[in-house]
Amino acid sequence: MKKKVIKFGGTSVGSIERIMHAAKIIQEESNKGNKLIVVVSAMAGKTSELISMSKQISNKFVKRELDVLLSTGEQVSCALISGALNELGIKAQSFMNWQIPILTDGDHNNSRIINMNTTKINDYITNGGVAIVPGYQGISKLGEVTTIGRGGSDATAVAIAKIFDTDSCEIYTDVDGVYSTDPNKIPVAKKIDKISYEEMLELSSLGAKVMQSSAVQTAMIYEIPLQVRSTFTDRPGTKIFSKNNLDYTKAVTGVAYSKDEAKITLQDVEDKPGIAAEIFEPLGKNQINIDMVIQNVSSDGKTTDITFTVKRDDLDKSLNILKKNKQIRYKNLSFKSNVSKISIVGAGMVTTPGITYKMFRALAEEKINILAISTSEIKISVIIEEKFTVEAAKKLHSIFNLD
Ligand code: ASP
Ligand code: MG
Repeated sequence: MKKKVIKFGGTSVGSIERIMHAAKIIQEESNKGNKLIVVVSAMAGKTSELISMSKQISNKFVKRELDVLLSTGEQVSCALISGALNELGIKAQSFMNWQIPILTDGDHNNSRIINMNTTKINDYITNGGVAIVPGYQGISKLGEVTTIGRGGSDATAVAIAKIFDTDSCEIYTDVDGVYSTDPNKIPVAKKIDKISYEEMLELSSLGAKVMQSSAVQTAMIYEIPLQVRSTFTDRPGTKIFSKNNLDYTKAVTGVAYSKDEAKITLQDVEDKPGIAAEIFEPLGKNQINIDMVIQNVSSDGKTTDITFTVKRDDLDKSLNILKKNKQIRYKNLSFKSNVSKISIVGAGMVTTPGITYKMFRALAEEKINILAISTSEIKISVIIEEKFTVEAAKKLHSIFNLD
């Protein structure tokens, strides 16, 4: 007998038929004698629909009321799942955010869960009931309804796993796990059976579709093992846990890419302390996320070149901010907007020599030019021209034996 959190995403509860199907999965788990806390998302598309309704009234729709509105999506799923379980003869009950309560801190639309009362739910599941809890919401200290950011039901599931000290946290979704690369573009992609939190986060361009990154981060901090699996097949899914519990037979676990990148280069920037801060501070203050940064060694000791990447949507804004910045001196500002980032990720890299040159050699064989490089302990990323993205990903996937 185990105490489990089981979370169903929006597509898994996207219609009455699917709700009945999810209820059957819960029934099987309950029949095994497990104590279950079920977390549900709103039915697929519901949250977006509610947001667009609010926008039809005002683009500045009052945030307090937006939270009241958005929290209803998950409440609907809770009631329907509970009802479906009751229909199957299972003892089940929904617990609304304020009934538990799920306590949150922070602003409306962007709160975070800080604690929950465990008494009522623990009593209920100990007495054989299945507790159904809405994801993505809570109440503030003042008793106001709050939501915790899009995709937040994953965070609710992880928080419950921690606070209720459950044996496992299973995320049911519409894909059957994390893949070694994008299976839609590169059909030889393989499902990964086991992966570390760190790799999962680094593979976020693949993994983000599977689970909210901040929820994975929380799971990593508290070492809560996760399992992602499909609602629609019986296959085992992907287990995500601490890298100390993994044996690495392969140096590279996956190949990720993101196409919407842009590269900016400042040539002949004054080489003195504080310059990098002067360049990046105004960008940061304008909510622009900087990804890779490469500073060349200065050849004359006076000037250097700095290259960095931003999301393509932020390119124009970034260029404007740089041009207006009177604190920095440079000879030339250039940029390239049609670039992509391709990364190989693997916790096994640390112990395997020669990965870096293999990656570069493989790209050279395909006549793909590398525009920038950055590395971390478990990742090597390069910037290349966007048109080569899929070709490069295929090549790397194959040379690192992932096909
Ligand atoms: N329903 C919310 C959303 O669509 C939360 C979630 O599904 O995780 O963002
Ligand atoms: Mg989701």
